Amino acid sequence: MSNETIKLKKENPDPAQKDSQPTPNFIRNIITEDLKNNKNDGKVITRFPPEPNGFLHIGHAKSICLNFGLAAEFGGQCNLRFDDTNPTKEEDQYVRAIKEDVRWLGFDWQDRELYASDYFDRLYEFAVQLIKAGKAYVEDLTADEIRAYRGTLTEPGKESPYRNRPVDENLDLFDRMRTGEFPDGSRVLRAKIDMTSGNINMRDPVLYRILHASHHRTGDKWCIYPMYDFAHGQSDSIEGVTHSICTLEFEDHRPLYNWLLENLKIHHPQQIEFARLNLNYTVTSKRKLLQLVEAKLVNGWDDPRMPTISGLRRRGFTPQSIRNFCELIGVAKRDSMVDIAMLEHCVREDLNQHAPRVMAVLRPLKVVITNYPEDQVEEMEAVNNPEDPAAGKRKVPFSKVLYIEQNDFREDPPRKFFRLGPGREVRLRYAYYITCENVVKDEKTGEVVELHCTYDPATKGGWSPDGRKVKGTLHWVSADHALEAEVRLYDRLFSIANPGGDKETDFKEHLNPNSLETLTNCRVEPGLANAEAGSRIQFERQGYFCVDPDSSGKKLVFNRTVSLRDSWAKIEKAQKVD
Ligand code: ATP
Ligand code: MG
Repeated sequence: MSNETIKLKKENPDPAQKDSQPTPNFIRNIITEDLKNNKNDGKVITRFPPEPNGFLHIGHAKSICLNFGLAAEFGGQCNLRFDDTNPTKEEDQYVRAIKEDVRWLGFDWQDRELYASDYFDRLYEFAVQLIKAGKAYVEDLTADEIRAYRGTLTEPGKESPYRNRPVDENLDLFDRMRTGEFPDGSRVLRAKIDMTSGNINMRDPVLYRILHASHHRTGDKWCIYPMYDFAHGQSDSIEGVTHSICTLEFEDHRPLYNWLLENLKIHHPQQIEFARLNLNYTVTSKRKLLQLVEAKLVNGWDDPRMPTISGLRRRGFTPQSIRNFCELIGVAKRDSMVDIAMLEHCVREDLNQHAPRVMAVLRPLKVVITNYPEDQVEEMEAVNNPEDPAAGKRKVPFSKVLYIEQNDFREDPPRKFFRLGPGREVRLRYAYYITCENVVKDEKTGEVVELHCTYDPATKGGWSPDGRKVKGTLHWVSADHALEAEVRLYDRLFSIANPGGDKETDFKEHLNPNSLETLTNCRVEPGLANAEAGSRIQFERQGYFCVDPDSSGKKLVFNRTVSLRDSWAKIEKAQKVD
């Protein structure tokens, strides 16, 4: 009896394996041009700036691949900078999760784990500098009044009565804001720019607010916090960032980004915007994903149905497949919706090369080989991966009682059903030809519970000496040797393509009620006994699966990463024909 375990690799064998060749995009072109002109002394410094208020999703992966990828490509560096300016929403668990995800994707920030909160002192000094230059003032209007004064897209704003406070008074009030004299929301610091600007972001934007809240890193040191727009550009500048790459929604903020750097007279990175990734049948917004987690509509941030990096990892995606996907979708200036079939295609392609094949029966139907000797067990030789000869072969036990897949048998087979039926002959993969002689049914329900078949001993290995052909090849496991397993089948998280698109309905109403199907009576090859969590395999004829962290020696648990059928390949083929 073979106790041989299947050798499973958790990651691709060669981490240095080259990703697909970079395709040109407008950001690469800008950087190439800058280098040609020796701008920034020939340096390229980028950053990935997550706010630690949730787990990263596939959209962030695009930004990570872009920022780290470009830095690597041009011999520069990419910083991991946490934009942690909102203490009420940020948590340390998110910082840890983000670091794990970026590292898992294959990127290294070395010693540059940076935090906007580390710059709070300098940001405060920058604010004081603006006040002294007459370019910022303390505002006493309430939030509602500020909004009313701001005007609209078609109407200019009005100047606040506090706008022309003397510098000394502003300095005094800002200092007292810092020392905690005033309650939340009672005052803010604003930039003094232009209340009539066509760009609302330039109508004296708020730079600092009062927030008596404890921060995950600075504790109670501060009770005023910089706004995102004030922290972000100045943090870029402090770090010497050369190309500050962000998503399109920040395009309208660029004039403010530039204004602040110019008026502070500090190093001026170039902000470049690109279109964010939108993926159909899911949502790529931390805010929405948080709602799903909090309402327990999914099993946490790393639920394999989630588009989070941790969810994709648990589902069985490889870092390489996600990097390939990010390269394939490219970088554009216009928002668009990417087909999730493309992401599935990328993981299929990668796993096809690296995942060992095994046989697993998800919905077992008992087959008794009536003419097979009672206690005999044969070791059948099976190929581990036809795409990779180095993966070698293994032995799979064969015996008198087997399981096959329920849907590989039809009592009344329709046309083109080439699998098993009464009186039909099929091949059992790596084993023998068998013929179905008798169907045993449950007396009460009429359900097929067992098949009695005969085998042809001359067909060992799956080939007949007389050259007769069988049309179907089925996978199977030996009943006595197979291991019981739970298999979780995942489908799309939402049942409509654009769940966030309809503003009238709550996106949560479009959750797919059948996104998870749990099968508890599956049988897998004995070689999977010690499969470690995270190991990825192909169940022949079914799809790619990985071992879930819930799995144990007592109870194996597998997640279906993706089925074998590739709808993206079909779409692509059809497009090429057009
Ligand atoms: P969300 O809308 O999901 O909350 P966010 O933009 O608020 O995302 P951040 O933590 O601020 O999340 O994002 C960090 C970086 O990732 C930013 O530079 C942001 O532009 C980028 N990013 C976020 N979502 C996407 C996306 N869907 N596609 C590409 N880049 C993204
Ligand atoms: Mg953001």
